Amino acid sequence: MLIGPGGAGKGTVAQALVARVPGLWLSRSWTTRPPRTGERPDAYVYVDTDAFMARVREDGFLEWAEFLGHLYGTPTPSPPLGFDVLLEIDVQGARQVVAKRPGSIVILLVPPSAAVQERRMEARGDPAEEVARRVVAGHEEVRQARELARSEVVNDDVERATTEVAGIVEAARSARREHS
Ligand code: 5GP
Repeated sequence: MLIGPGGAGKGTVAQALVARVPGLWLSRSWTTRPPRTGERPDAYVYVDTDAFMARVREDGFLEWAEFLGHLYGTPTPSPPLGFDVLLEIDVQGARQVVAKRPGSIVILLVPPSAAVQERRMEARGDPAEEVARRVVAGHEEVRQARELARSEVVNDDVERATTEVAGIVEAARSARREHS
């Protein structure tokens, strides 16, 4: 799992990671948040609250949470045989997944500075007040994430950060092979 505050670059690193590390399957979340202008159309499955809550009632999510007024959830994963599931979610969701699947690996991705974090959110078109809300929420997100994550990676450069995260994944896989 990749967790971290808005503007950390989780989505970019997650994409780079699946392109680089074989056998990783990136889950596609559902959200009630409207698409951002310029957001990849496959970034989420965009649904209304009724559709989201219907899936909750069917027990169709591994986890779900409300984040800044919108609902986000991970559909029960169905990766190809032998693939590891990669989730890019908030800390509330990560806590639920760790409770259900205690062997999960949680990696906290943080921006190199508050200035870079804000610039990234502005660059993707978040309105100024949204950036401000997400920066405030981000402080609490990082505080809670540090209690959950086994590793923390600074996303100062996507290539470098992806290499570091890939190393953590490979190390976890080796440890798992030794224990099986
Ligand atoms: P954003 O609106 O910036 O795309 O996402 C807001 C927050 O929700 C981010 O921290 C993101 O990682 C998180 N998020 C995205 N998908 C999910 C999900 O399926 N479940 C949970 N719990 N959080 C998610």
